Amino acid sequence: MTDVMSDVVSDVVLSFDGVTKTYPGTPPVESLRGVDLTVRAGEMVAVVGPSGSGKTTLLNLAAGLDRPTLGSVRLTGRPIETLSDSGLSGLRAHALGVVFQQFFLLDHLSAVDNVATGLLYRGVPARHRREAALTALDRVGLANRAHQHTRTLSGGERQRVAIARALVGRPALVLADEPTGNLDSVAGGRLLDLLTELNADGVTLLIITHDPQVAAACPRQVQILDGRVGADTHASVR
Ligand code: ADP
Ligand code: MG
Repeated sequence: MTDVMSDVVSDVVLSFDGVTKTYPGTPPVESLRGVDLTVRAGEMVAVVGPSGSGKTTLLNLAAGLDRPTLGSVRLTGRPIETLSDSGLSGLRAHALGVVFQQFFLLDHLSAVDNVATGLLYRGVPARHRREAALTALDRVGLANRAHQHTRTLSGGERQRVAIARALVGRPALVLADEPTGNLDSVAGGRLLDLLTELNADGVTLLIITHDPQVAAACPRQVQILDGRVGADTHASVR
């Protein structure tokens, strides 16, 4: 209980405490082995490491899409392993935004309707969802594309729509898994500028990336090696 309180007081948005994730099989796969990690409000953190080292597992746990085998994952102070499925869904809807390499947009909808889906699970009335979606699109520089179907947008624009959807509920933490992975270098560079701007504006970001340019732009880099935290540069004090 004291830990939970200190998280709230100290502005910790995400913490992993001795987290192990074992996938069943013969032999079982220990995807994460005793990971400790703390992310505070306002940080922009890159998670790097070779393929198979456990980065996606870490993201899935941080996103509350999976639960730890051992240890604790706290999102805005609440340990996800103690929540029911519906409690966890509610926490995710309020605390988190997630951006994926493949965008995962609904391509038969307009940009603004895609962004508004980011508020579907928060009980916000439709008209307010739309207003908030337009504001979020403006924030990512796409106000002029709001009514266009996302299938007619470029890759860089589509990823901006996905970022607007992640931001629309003003989450405590935005998680991104290879956000520039499907973009050419020019679009990737622009997206990185946007992420940097959002962070300067107070958005807390945890970004899984293979892109050295993205990693270098993050003030903090956490390296995952064989299921453990290898290096953690500029780590905040626990
Ligand atoms: P990364 O994202 O760094 O490439 P992952 O987190 O995807 O690494 O995977 C880490 C290890 O866990 C790998 O050995 C992978 O095969 C294994 N793994 C990941 N997900 C599962 C799963 N659902 N079932 C069994 N093994 C898994
Ligand atoms: Mg992965």
